Parts: sequence; C-alpha cells; structure tokens
Amino acid sequence: MNLHSSEELFAAACQVLPGGVNSPVRAYRSVGLTPRFIQRAEGSYIYDVEGRRYIDYVCSWGPMILGHNHPVIREAVEKAVVDGLSFGAPTPREVEIAQLMVEMVPGLEMVRMVNSGTEAVMSALRLARGATGRDKLIKFEGCYHGHSDCMLVNAGSSALAGGHPSSSGVPVGAAKDTLTAQFNDLSSVQALLEANRGEVAAVIVEPVAANMGVVGPAPGFLQGLRELCDQHGALLIFDEVITGFRLAPGGAQEYFGVKADLVTYGKIIGGGMPVGAYGGSRALMEHVAPCGPVYQAGTLSGNPVAMAAGLAQLRYLHDHPQVYTHINHMGASLAQDMGKLCETSPVPVAINQVGSLLSPFFTPTEVSTFVDAKGSDVGMYARYFGEMLQRGIYLAPAQFEAMFLSDAHSAEDLTATLEAFQQTLEALSH
Ligand SMILES: *Cc1c(COP(=O)(O)O)cnc(C)c1O
Repeated sequence: MNLHSSEELFAAACQVLPGGVNSPVRAYRSVGLTPRFIQRAEGSYIYDVEGRRYIDYVCSWGPMILGHNHPVIREAVEKAVVDGLSFGAPTPREVEIAQLMVEMVPGLEMVRMVNSGTEAVMSALRLARGATGRDKLIKFEGCYHGHSDCMLVNAGSSALAGGHPSSSGVPVGAAKDTLTAQFNDLSSVQALLEANRGEVAAVIVEPVAANMGVVGPAPGFLQGLRELCDQHGALLIFDEVITGFRLAPGGAQEYFGVKADLVTYGKIIGGGMPVGAYGGSRALMEHVAPCGPVYQAGTLSGNPVAMAAGLAQLRYLHDHPQVYTHINHMGASLAQDMGKLCETSPVPVAINQVGSLLSPFFTPTEVSTFVDAKGSDVGMYARYFGEMLQRGIYLAPAQFEAMFLSDAHSAEDLTATLEAFQQTLEALSH
C-alpha cells in the first residue's frame, strides 16, 4: 500500500483508528476538512507529508514553547536513549526536574510526575479529596481538565442539583459530585460553596481558560477564588497544563500573583514527550503513597527519556527568561495587529490574548465568559481555518482552542501571518 497524500492516509486511518485519529480534535470535523498528516517540524514550521510548509500556531497544543525539534532537547533525548528506555526505578533526572520545578514555581515544595495532563488532574483531585475528607468538586463550564470521568461533566443550569455527564460512558455516580460554576463569575462559585457547606474538596480552574478559545480571568477573579476557598476550607487547584511554564517561569501563579494549593502540569514539562505532574506544599503532597493513604502510581512515570526532554526544556526556560519577554511581546503585538485589520473588516471578530496565547472569536461582542465564547460563529471559524491553511498558516482546527506562540516564531512569521489574515478577512466578507 502506497500512502502518499493526507487524503490517502486519512482514508486508510479511518479503517483502523476511530475517526482516523488518536485524539478527536485532530480529525478536523468541526472545520469539515481532511487533517494534514505531518512528516516533520522544525522551529516555527510544520511540514505535511506532501511537503507543504506551514507556520505552526498549534505547537503540539502547547508543549513546543521553544519551537519544534529544538537542538537542546533533541540532544538530551538522544543522550538518554543510549542508556536504555525505561527501568521502573528511580533515576537522577527525576530529582533534577523536581528540584528545578520547585525552584521556578513559587510555593511549590513537592511534585509527583505522571504521564499526561489527564492523569495529573485525576491524581490531584484524588489527593484533594483524600486530604480534605470531602467528595464534591467545583469546576467551570467550558474549562477542560482532561478526560477523567469526574471532569467530563457539564452541569448547565441544574448545577446546584449536581452534574450531568457530558460523555457517554461516564456514570452518573462519577459525575454527581462535580458541580459546575461560571468562569469569571465569583457569585456562581459562592452560591455552590454555600449550598454545599463543608462538602467541597476543591475548586479547579484553568487560570487562563484556553479550552473555550482563550478567555483571561477578569480582574480579581482568581484572587476571589482564593478567598472563597479559604473561607470554605476547600483547596484551590490551578490546572496549569497549558499556562504552566508558559505565562512565566512560575506559570499563572507568578503571572497573576495568586497562589493555588495544588497545581497540575503537562504539555510544556514534557518538552514534547508524554509527561504530566502535580504538586503543592509538602504537607499536602505527603498524603500521597508511599508517604500517605492517597494511592497513585505509574509504571512509566518519570520515564528517563521523557524526563530528559522535560528537564532540557525547563532548564533552557530557566536559563533564558528572555523567552518569556519574546513570546509575550509577540502575543500582544499579533493580537493588536490582527485587531487593527478587523476594524476595517465587515466580519465581526473579537481577539483575546493573554501572554503567548490568543484566539479570534467571530462575534461582535467582547468575550469574557463561556456564554460569550459560545456566541462565536463556528461556521465562520471553519471558513477562516480553511482560508488560513491554504495560505500556509496552521491553526487549531476548532474555534474553542488557543493559538500558541513559540520562541522560534519570528517577526517575518508574524508579518506573513498578518498578510494571510488580511486576505482571509477579505475572502470571508464575500
Ligand atoms: C491538555 C489539557 C489537559 C489534558 O492533558 P492531556 O495530556 O491531554 O491528558 C488538562 N488540562 C488542561 C488545561 C489542558 O489544556
């Protein structure tokens, strides 16, 4: 079988993989196209199997903050591979990466490495429940925390009565203790905490919501969550799987000056390898086995090759803080320049940006809540996506995702992107 094009590969993939993919958003269903199969990537560019080059704003959904195939990470992996792929025993790099995380993140005293963001969140929630002796959780509608049962919940207007599963296969029992509040609405959190006094183990939030498109926290929102959690004896969990080591070396906790009790990581800390982690104070983390009664384990956790990649990336970020100045500056200027082009376009667009994360919403209103985000014209996003792809710009194939910038993106890349954006706006207005 000769499979040369994305079309051929996708047809073959659909025979043996559900929907042709190993993670749903990759299937391009919400933009009605065929996914590009990728051959390789370098710096800010990604190349499909047909040899077409794109400027990449997916960055593997966040991990590739230094750009693709960064030599420092590649060499660290090559060196680690020579010593063997897995031992199921402690290795020096696990200690080094944990020490580095503790140094970079304010308030972080201990971490446990796992294999994905999903696993990090699932484990942090178990720890929160174990440490508080409480069962209920509060999450926000439109925030994504991986695919563990109790996080696949969408409570809608019946939040006070308990959650309803948002995926088939999630038992009502697993969802009933997950309450859903509204992002950027402290009163919705307060109401849930008051109606469930002494029962809420944790409030979990993406400090910058980046899975409903990008929606930043309103001034005082994160601080308000901190205060409400303290008043009610609930733990505050920042899911920093996207924002961790991206907004600042200390992530959203440093960027917004608000401290969480537990923090979850993924994406960037693996440098492109499958890694997650959760951490917090020594007092909390010592509830985890073998120190304490909260069980959590992993055959491949702290895998030596994965740790080599993550450690190399974090060390580079630690030693080159100018990366943050660069990517945050690019984020602001790209959002500003895209915004300017929109002003003269008949297509209504709202552009949200926090640091190196941004997203356009096709709506005439500002977007500061999940309800606002859902007001975006997803049909228009699909057309926008297709037009940009044709012009060599590789974006997330769905409205409710972020654009990610990396240190490898250049001023020339941004100029080319703005040119494509301008042409796309013109095409969309007809
Ligand atoms: C991606 C993501 C996760 C899940 O991480 P996986 O590695 O895909 O399991 C959890 N939380 C947030 C905020 C994410 O963006």
